[in-house]
Amino acid sequence: NATTLSEKETALKPGRMKFLQLIFVDINGVPKGMEIPVERYEEAIDDGIAFDGSSIPGFEGIEDSDLIFKADPSTYSEVPWEGVSRVYGYIYKGKRPYPADPRGVLRDALKELEKEGFRAYIGPEPEFYLFRKNGSWELGLPDGGGYFDLVNLDRARNVRRDIALYMPSLGLIPEVLHHEVGKAQHEIDFRYDEALRTADNIVSFKYIVKAVAETHELHATFMPKPIHDLPGNGMHLHMSLWKDGDNAFMGDGGLSDTALHFIGGILAHARALTALTNPTVNSYKRLVPGYEAPVYISWGYRNRSALIRVPAFWGKGARVEYRCPDPSANPYLAFAAVLMAGLDGIRRKIEPTAYVEENVYEMDDSRRESMGVETLPGSLGEALEELKEDRVVRKAIGKAYRNFIGYKEREWEAYLGYLKAEGLPEDTRKVTGWELERYFHV
Ligand code: GLU
Ligand code: MG
Ligand code: MG
Repeated sequence: NATTLSEKETALKPGRMKFLQLIFVDINGVPKGMEIPVERYEEAIDDGIAFDGSSIPGFEGIEDSDLIFKADPSTYSEVPWEGVSRVYGYIYKGKRPYPADPRGVLRDALKELEKEGFRAYIGPEPEFYLFRKNGSWELGLPDGGGYFDLVNLDRARNVRRDIALYMPSLGLIPEVLHHEVGKAQHEIDFRYDEALRTADNIVSFKYIVKAVAETHELHATFMPKPIHDLPGNGMHLHMSLWKDGDNAFMGDGGLSDTALHFIGGILAHARALTALTNPTVNSYKRLVPGYEAPVYISWGYRNRSALIRVPAFWGKGARVEYRCPDPSANPYLAFAAVLMAGLDGIRRKIEPTAYVEENVYEMDDSRRESMGVETLPGSLGEALEELKEDRVVRKAIGKAYRNFIGYKEREWEAYLGYLKAEGLPEDTRKVTGWELERYFHV
């Protein structure tokens, strides 16, 4: 294949980067990998590079841990400030795709969409906090700005700009940089792309944000709710499906039936989806009223209190915004799950219920009930129970399901053990030291 060859040649030019990072993600979406001398790039594409996967979180439980990394040359990029090249890839076990490889899971889900002629495009809105940290978990906020604050209050603006300046070398196109609602909370949006590319971009983005923050002697965190009484970090997803070069969500003066059924599918599976889009104990500390994070399963046009918001763009820009996901999600598994839930809606022509234009937080329970508005799971434990019961969402992550549920159940148990030892109630909304320790670096 011609592209592959020319991409290989670019990387193999002498005098360029000396080392190549081979990147995949573990079950948490955390990048893992090894470095090889760049001369081995061709081998990494054709035969793959063997490694021992037994200590990768979520890969364990498989007797034979000899795995193979095969580079996907369409993802090749260079990190000038580190003097290395990097490439994402797929994991194999022998000749077969390794079932717990998240990137492989998303590739398979996208093939399922292709059977119906669809290509998925996703644009994320990742939010993060910047902290000063002094050894312990004492967190200091380096700026006291608020939503859209510019120069005076916002001491972190140079961090944001540096991040945006580094993004293009990893193939990300920054679009909007702004201060978020929380003190020291920020958002940088980058250009939407085909789903697999966007998942890679999210992994690259988190890496750049953390690396740049460190150069300013700050720590960036994507944990969903680092501080109890400040807003959480969301990662809203803007999604559209395209068919034959056209946006299939575009209808006559509104959304198409395809889009409405896609929304219907997501709402129908929303409770199980949270296990993938909000996969940490800490995720559920964000999904509470009062901070613009969703709590109730509903949809509406423009309505920011809804779980799914339809922005007012009808032409080629027609899309739906899913407001539940947070940046602790493994983007590959989360995308696979959400897209397969939407596809289920399209295949079964599920009409979306719970259309709401008022503020759902302000309705009383009986009004919500009469409108068919259900509630999202209140904890990771509850979300995992929902996942177990939802065949469509389970199937969406294929054979990774077993590893995922096993890993996450152990995580939930460990947290319950901690609460017990500390004498804290199971439904505490406080952000615990256990969470900071475990998730600050996700
Ligand atoms: N930080 C909010 C959340 O947790 C989102 C704020 C916004 O609308 O951008 O989802
Ligand atoms: Mg935001
Ligand atoms: Mg948004």
